[in-house]
Amino acid sequence: MHLNLAYRWFCRLGLDGSVPDHSTFSKNRHGRFRESDLLRRLFESVLQRCIDEGLVGGEGFAVDASLIQADASDRTRVPGAAGPPADAAGRAVEEYLAVLDDAAFGAATEVTPKFIAPADPATRWTAAHRGPAFFAYSANYLVDTDNAIIVDVEATTAIRQAEVLAAKRMVERSLEGFDLYPAKLIGDTAYGTAEMLNWLVNEHGIEPHIPVFDKSQHADGTFSRDDFAYDHKRDCYICPAGKQLRQRQKIYRLPRPLVDRNGMMRYRASKLDCHNCSLKPQCCPNAPARKIPRSIHEGARDLARDIAKTEAYRTSRCQRKKVEMLFAHLKRILRLDRLRLRGPNGARDEFHLAATAQNLRKLAILVPAAPPMPAG
Ligand code: SF4
Repeated sequence: MHLNLAYRWFCRLGLDGSVPDHSTFSKNRHGRFRESDLLRRLFESVLQRCIDEGLVGGEGFAVDASLIQADASDRTRVPGAAGPPADAAGRAVEEYLAVLDDAAFGAATEVTPKFIAPADPATRWTAAHRGPAFFAYSANYLVDTDNAIIVDVEATTAIRQAEVLAAKRMVERSLEGFDLYPAKLIGDTAYGTAEMLNWLVNEHGIEPHIPVFDKSQHADGTFSRDDFAYDHKRDCYICPAGKQLRQRQKIYRLPRPLVDRNGMMRYRASKLDCHNCSLKPQCCPNAPARKIPRSIHEGARDLARDIAKTEAYRTSRCQRKKVEMLFAHLKRILRLDRLRLRGPNGARDEFHLAATAQNLRKLAILVPAAPPMPAG
């Protein structure tokens, strides 16, 4: 700014105006404007402009998360079980302590991380696509599928549970803040948990264009749950031999709850049926009778499975690429493959600035510029 007139003009400084000290930026970011949530408001005002220009359809949203490397060296890492060193101090450490109970950071999982970065303990030691592990935060984007405008952005720790929570927070914020009520949400398997699908279908009436997260497939050649048909009317499964599997056939002295603490119900075949069945070696070779677990949210999972067979779902698969392309642009063109700032607030600031820049770029491309004012 001392040397470049264009920078002076951009900052509205005259030729002899004094240039602020370089530390003003960090002082403003960490102190003066922290409480005002300035960058969030900047992002929202640009989004509002996109909505006003008719660039946001609001019919379909896509959600995804991408790992962004943190500004933390893996050479100084310490074992996670030991926790941050007692002498670790600084703003990033204070922010780490402040988010320990936040479900998007410290409370996202009870699993102890393998390593901790003393310089930025809120980062997570993780790996993408079986590559080498590194310290990272997750950038979460909620994108409108019409023009790939970013409708919301959130920074979380790099773990699936936190990313699912971020998706919920972003959908709720877009409903409350901008009255955007999407008919469908597109996402990958990470968002296909029973609880998330139930939240979308039964609490918000949003169609899940999401593959169901399902670990029921058997790799050993025995029948998987797909081989059993659920009969809604009679509330039972019908096995390949045509027998019924019902909830609880045993009688206990003290009645036990039908739903366990993970929200699962058990449907059991009769021991007599299985004992006399010629299909038993393909069904339950090591158990007296077959049992099938069913989530209390299975209705929402069934709806997601039905949607996955439609033509609209195939279109959604292509639309999901829009959010992936935004992450590729974020890393390759905006060069945000590694954060410059530390702590959850640093990640949040950088992700908001980047998402704002990406939306401004879309505005510049899609909205025709006003004709120049006639001279004189
Ligand atoms: S083993 Fe039992 S559950 Fe399996 S197919 Fe035979 S009767 Fe049905």
